[in-house]
Amino acid sequence: MSRLTLRQVRKSFKQTEVLRGIDLEIAPGELIVFVGPSGCGKSTLLRCIAGLEEITGGDIALGDRSLAGVAPSRRGMAMVFQSYALYPHMDVRGNMAFGLKLMGLSSDEVEARIAEAARMLQLTPLLDRKPRELSGGQRQRVAIGRALVRQPEVFLLDEPLSNLDAALRSEVRLEIAKLHETIGGTTIYVTHDQVEAMTLATRIVVMRDGRIEQVGTPRELFETPANTFVGTFIGSPR
Ligand code: ADP
Ligand code: MG
Repeated sequence: MSRLTLRQVRKSFKQTEVLRGIDLEIAPGELIVFVGPSGCGKSTLLRCIAGLEEITGGDIALGDRSLAGVAPSRRGMAMVFQSYALYPHMDVRGNMAFGLKLMGLSSDEVEARIAEAARMLQLTPLLDRKPRELSGGQRQRVAIGRALVRQPEVFLLDEPLSNLDAALRSEVRLEIAKLHETIGGTTIYVTHDQVEAMTLATRIVVMRDGRIEQVGTPRELFETPANTFVGTFIGSPR
């Protein structure tokens, strides 16, 4: 397992600089949570790490290997999007199998991985259903399962709870924490919700306007926020 290193990462869309020099090292096995107000660049950063956007400055490396020019499918990462993005005409099994077939795995291996992920996410009885026959929470679990079966070294989650109601939100949040412990990889989790951040994170990264304001454990941020922006955002009394 490798350390993920971001060095002076920049991203501009035309004239607008959205990421303004992000420096960060993420240790293997961390569950690191990026928080910050809407529009601060969280999704863009995640997409740059996944290789879905090309960075316009700096470097992203996994271990000793720079990811510059490495296609998304070859980065050892899998991303879960805010809006599930399931294939409506495929059943749950098909949705989970899709990416794996592209990876060139045998059907036996595909079946084995789907069975394992379905068991972990309590989706086994639902494998033959279409997305429209599932609840919001079940759909989100399928989206997580679809990423999980790729056995990524780095798991990227972009506001995975935002379409769920409050009860389901805590259920799926617990499931994500459990999965992270079980698979033991690196998880990068984006949210604008400080409760999610405080309960899940090994470390929290607070972003504002394309920059990092502060990085620390939930406790460090709560007890010694670097400034009022961080303090207010984290809900610290200081
Ligand atoms: P967050 O996820 O923190 O809400 P985003 O990363 O989605 O923020 O967006 C950060 C900024 O980048 C926003 O101002 C957004 O409008 C802009 N942005 C994101 N994607 C694009 C794009 N493809 N083209 C132009 N601007 C974009
Ligand atoms: Mg976003």
